[in-house]
Amino acid sequence: MPGVYDVVIIGGGPAGLTAALYTARARFRTLILERLAPGGQMATTEHIENYPGFPLGMNGVDLSLRMLEQAERFGTEVIYDEVERVELAGPIKVIRGQLGSYEGRTVILATGASPRKLGVVGEDKFTGAGVSYCATCDGALYADKRVVVVGGADSAVEEASFLTRFASQVTIIHRRDQFRAAPIIVERALQNPKIQVMYDTVVEAIYGERSVTSVAVRNVKTNTTETVATSGVFIYVGLIPNAGFLAGVLPLDRGGYVLASEHDLSTQEEGVFAAGDVRPKSLRQVATAVGDGALAAAGVERYLSGVIKTER
Ligand SMILES: Cc1cc2nc3c(=O)[nH]c(=O)nc-3n(C[C@H](O)[C@H](O)[C@H](O)COP(=O)(O)OP(=O)(O)OC[C@H]3O[C@@H](n4cnc5c(N)ncnc54)[C@H](O)[C@@H]3O)c2cc1C
Repeated sequence: MPGVYDVVIIGGGPAGLTAALYTARARFRTLILERLAPGGQMATTEHIENYPGFPLGMNGVDLSLRMLEQAERFGTEVIYDEVERVELAGPIKVIRGQLGSYEGRTVILATGASPRKLGVVGEDKFTGAGVSYCATCDGALYADKRVVVVGGADSAVEEASFLTRFASQVTIIHRRDQFRAAPIIVERALQNPKIQVMYDTVVEAIYGERSVTSVAVRNVKTNTTETVATSGVFIYVGLIPNAGFLAGVLPLDRGGYVLASEHDLSTQEEGVFAAGDVRPKSLRQVATAVGDGALAAAGVERYLSGVIKTER
């Protein structure tokens, strides 16, 4: 075991990377545990144009690597391991990963969220063979092919526009009669001749042989059904928090998000904080995740300095 860290940050997305930048810069021994790659959801986004400081926008992977570099510059250690269990009571917290166990005087939970599944026939069978949750990762596989995007919020509409770089046609299938995305994103998509929209429509099944060939859809107003030929199905229907390993350890809300004080992001366990998409909040973006990271780090600093008790 590599000794006791001042802070163990679980998750290396923008919330975790920012928290690490602050705590490492404050000279606290800081460890990030990340199960995949730095950047989290941010790294699956092709173009981020609403994060301040980059007037022309920024590629999500590049922004992730910059945040990592900045955190590491001040001494943050990163270990790639998936956390499976935590023991958070008492002054030394124990974090058990697949590869090892780690100890921290404080913990920041920054595990973010993962794409929600549609839950229809064929979804699991064709994941990786036509079904995708990441246009940035898989879009290039659909050069000159038809794809559908399922969803109606920012990520769905934005990623539909991105997919027109490769696909010959992109059909957005949305269950309501209007989008929930920002007007500028919708405007851009609707002006794109490669994009068409099926409103009031839900996907009921995904069909194929070795890979996807079509989806069965139903209009929720007329109840008519039809089959739409497609090679790819990109699903953006919301998120689920990566907090399963915290069930029974910390209070979660009905959606499974980790409850934390709005004031300083402290959780019910002293010295444990929650930051970013893993906690209940009204806006899940890079900017708000970064803000949470800074706030949780400030809580850690105060807790470790013994200046004030965390709010519970
Ligand atoms: C397609 C898409 C497009 C988006 N576009 C934009 C945009 O244009 N602008 C914008 O501001 N925001 C955008 N967002 C939202 C933004 O990316 C998120 O709000 C932000 O990344 C949340 O940061 P986070 O650090 O809280 O969590 P995440 O980014 O989800 O990072 C959490 C990290 O924790 C890791 N992790 C999870 N569980 C464990 C575990 N048990 N052990 C170890 N590690 C674990 C994950 O691997 C991940 O790296 C987009 C999101 C998506 C999906």
